Amino acid sequence: MLRAFLDILFPPLCHICRTFIPAAGPLHICAGCRESITTISSPLCDLCGMPFGTIDGFDHRCGACSISPPRFDAARAATRFDGPVREMIHRFKYDQRVQLSRPLGLITAETLAPWAAAITSDLVVPVPLHVRRLRQRGFNQAVLIGQVLAHQWQLPLDRTCLRRIRWTEPQINLSAAERTANVRGAFAVSAPSRVEGRRVLLVDDVFTTGSTVTECARALKGAGATEVRVVTVARAVA
Ligand SMILES: [Zn+2]
Ligand SMILES: [Zn+2]
Repeated sequence: MLRAFLDILFPPLCHICRTFIPAAGPLHICAGCRESITTISSPLCDLCGMPFGTIDGFDHRCGACSISPPRFDAARAATRFDGPVREMIHRFKYDQRVQLSRPLGLITAETLAPWAAAITSDLVVPVPLHVRRLRQRGFNQAVLIGQVLAHQWQLPLDRTCLRRIRWTEPQINLSAAERTANVRGAFAVSAPSRVEGRRVLLVDDVFTTGSTVTECARALKGAGATEVRVVTVARAVA
């Protein structure tokens, strides 16, 4: 009754194409737009989660991970960083559309549910923003997505144990090597007792080269975390 009344006052519109959807469901994305979202599936690198260009085949280690294994134990992303997801993430972060954290978080939780069920995690830790960036933006997108994932997967969320202690310039126009140098030493664990001996799920919005989460994993493992696995909504795929 209340739902029906609210639908008249605030008709549910698709987050992507803005058309009216009578049965919006929790995602608020119409069937057509949902289909246009490219989720990442096997075969992929069993470590960094990079999808291989082939349709058939088993998951295996990619060349980059074989040569130099990353600091984290695994990384997975729900979708490719393109099309409507790229647009939603941009509106979420730069147009302050904080309500988009819900569909983005739910798509991630749903797509990666089998993977999350096959591993054991003790807590969700979002990639922190520097306090200056947090003041500019007003919110941390990784915290909002982490809240949805923690709720869906029934894990505690710790948003203060990991801190960004050094200001870093935006990574957007930097090469992979420059990104690594840019974030080196940027993170620290403020409460080691909360991560010591724990299996951490590190959450961010986009996985580009992995330099940010690698640096976070270094700090978390330095503080005694036994495992660090990375979950992102999207992943840039060349
Ligand atoms: Zn739509
Ligand atoms: Zn890999």
